[in-house]
Amino acid sequence: MKYNRILLKLSGEALMGDRQYGIDPERLADYAKEIKQVVDQGVQVAIVIGGGNIFRGVAGASNGMDRVQGDHMGMLATVINGLALQSACEDAGIPTRLQTAIQINEVAEPFIRRKAMRHLEKGRVVIFGGGTGNPYFTTDSAAVLRAIEIEADVILKGTRVDGIYTADPEKDSSATKFDFISFEDVLRKGLKVMDTTAFTLSQENELPIIVFDMNTPGNLLKLIGGEAIGTKVQI
Ligand code: UDP
Repeated sequence: MKYNRILLKLSGEALMGDRQYGIDPERLADYAKEIKQVVDQGVQVAIVIGGGNIFRGVAGASNGMDRVQGDHMGMLATVINGLALQSACEDAGIPTRLQTAIQINEVAEPFIRRKAMRHLEKGRVVIFGGGTGNPYFTTDSAAVLRAIEIEADVILKGTRVDGIYTADPEKDSSATKFDFISFEDVLRKGLKVMDTTAFTLSQENELPIIVFDMNTPGNLLKLIGGEAIGTKVQI
C-alpha cells in the first residue's frame, strides 16, 4: 500500500446522498464499506467529518444570528455526523473511536493526540468531531491540523467531483482535470481546493492533498494502492 496512515476528509453534504438535508443511511453504509476495504489492508484511517448537511455558522450569521453561536452549532453538527459515521463503521465491523475537540464526555472521547495515535496503531478508525473546537474555522482546517498532528502521510478529500479542474466542470464543458498540481499553482490560478487557512497550513507543512471522487466504489482502495485517482496537490 502506498500510504500507511491517512486522514480522510468528508464533507457533511456528502452524507446527504440525494436528500436536501440530514443524513442518508445508505450513503453512510456505502462509505463504511469503502473505509473497511482499506482498513482490511492494514491502513490506519483517521476521518474528519463536516457539518454542512445540518448547520453552517455563516448561514446562521446571514440570517442575523451571532456568528460564534452559529459556529458552535456547526461544530455540534459535526459531532452528530461523527456519531452517525461511527455507528455505520461499527455496523460494518470496524472498531471505531470518536474524539471531539469540544468535550462531551458522555458521548465521545476528548481529542488526545497520543490516544488517537494509539487507537490508529491498534487498527481502530478514529473520527475527529467538533472541527478545531474554535469558531471562524472550517472542518477543512480541522482536517489539515489533525493530519499534521497525527503525522498522516496524506489528506484525502472525498468529494463528488473526481479531482481539480482548470474551471468548474459542472459549468464549463471545456474544463480539464489535473493529475498533479503544485500548491503554488493552485494559488496562482485561483483554484478552489480548500479554504485559504486550511490550504496554507497544508502547504507550510508539506502535507499533500488528494482530491478524489468518494462516490465511485473502489476509488479509496485504488488510491491507497497507488493508482492515479483524482488530483494530487503537492510541493
Ligand atoms: N465550524 C467551526 N469551527 C471549526 C469547524 C467547523 O466553527 O473548526 C463550524 C462552522 O460553523 C462550519 C460548520 O461548523 O460552517 C460545519 O463545518 P464545515 O462548514 O467545515 O462543514 P462541511 O462544509 O465540510 O460540511
